[in-house]
Amino acid sequence: MHRILTASAAHGTVSLVAGITTELVREARERHDLAPTASAAVGRLLTAAALLGASLKGRERLTLQVVGNGPIGALTADAWRVGDHAIGARAYARNGRANVPLNARGKFDVARVVGRGNLQVTKSYEVGQPYNGIVPLVSGEIGDDVAAYLANSEQIPSVVALGVLADPNGIKAAGGVIAHVLPGADESTIATLERNAAGMPAVTTQIASGAGAEELLRAVAGDLELKTFNAFDVAFDCRCTREKVESALLGLGKDELAKIAREQPQTEATCEFCRERYVLSADDVRELAQRLG
Ligand code: ZN
Repeated sequence: MHRILTASAAHGTVSLVAGITTELVREARERHDLAPTASAAVGRLLTAAALLGASLKGRERLTLQVVGNGPIGALTADAWRVGDHAIGARAYARNGRANVPLNARGKFDVARVVGRGNLQVTKSYEVGQPYNGIVPLVSGEIGDDVAAYLANSEQIPSVVALGVLADPNGIKAAGGVIAHVLPGADESTIATLERNAAGMPAVTTQIASGAGAEELLRAVAGDLELKTFNAFDVAFDCRCTREKVESALLGLGKDELAKIAREQPQTEATCEFCRERYVLSADDVRELAQRLG
């Protein structure tokens, strides 16, 4: 039941990754109580992070952040490796209740809920400075924007297809496929990828009719000889802990913590990424204040 699959095609001049992220996006929708348009926006960004996460190693980490002037405000997705065969990912939106009518093609109007703005990508490595890239949003539809980032900031021309199918009851299908054109690829390979991506049914249509990651790869690769590599499970995960919440509270300072302990029987902190609630009693907060001497 592997959900994300990496591959190469055309004698290693194309690198591909595809995945089914229905469960991942469903969990994000439920945790954040996302409205339909917001769930499509968050689901596409989360899917992109999970797919690109397949190329991370060890403790590397990838963050995609879209900041636009639309009603959703900003959305962030993170991905990282969990052992050798799994990817953890998480996402949230500043305004997860943002919803707008369907667009003229009867699809979620992700471009409108996102608005104009930027896509920022951060890659943290085991050692050394993180890599940062920022590009203006091309359309706000997320897939186009990730493709523009890869082409302009990383100099890797890429085909990116992402999709989320939802109805008022929740997420029906989600997934995507990304093909990177590597140095040495010939013109006809690029033309074939572009033609296949433009001609294939929407990824959600393929997934809803039973396609798995391998079928998504084949739909984009077409006649190009495909060689699959690694398979990964993907699950919604979070890195928040009670210790991190406590260290954030410590930043308030001794006097403020003592005041909170006097005035509030309990203090709640909610992780913005996963909505996990952490509850501290007045005694817990007092103990934190004492740690500051
Ligand atoms: Zn969390």
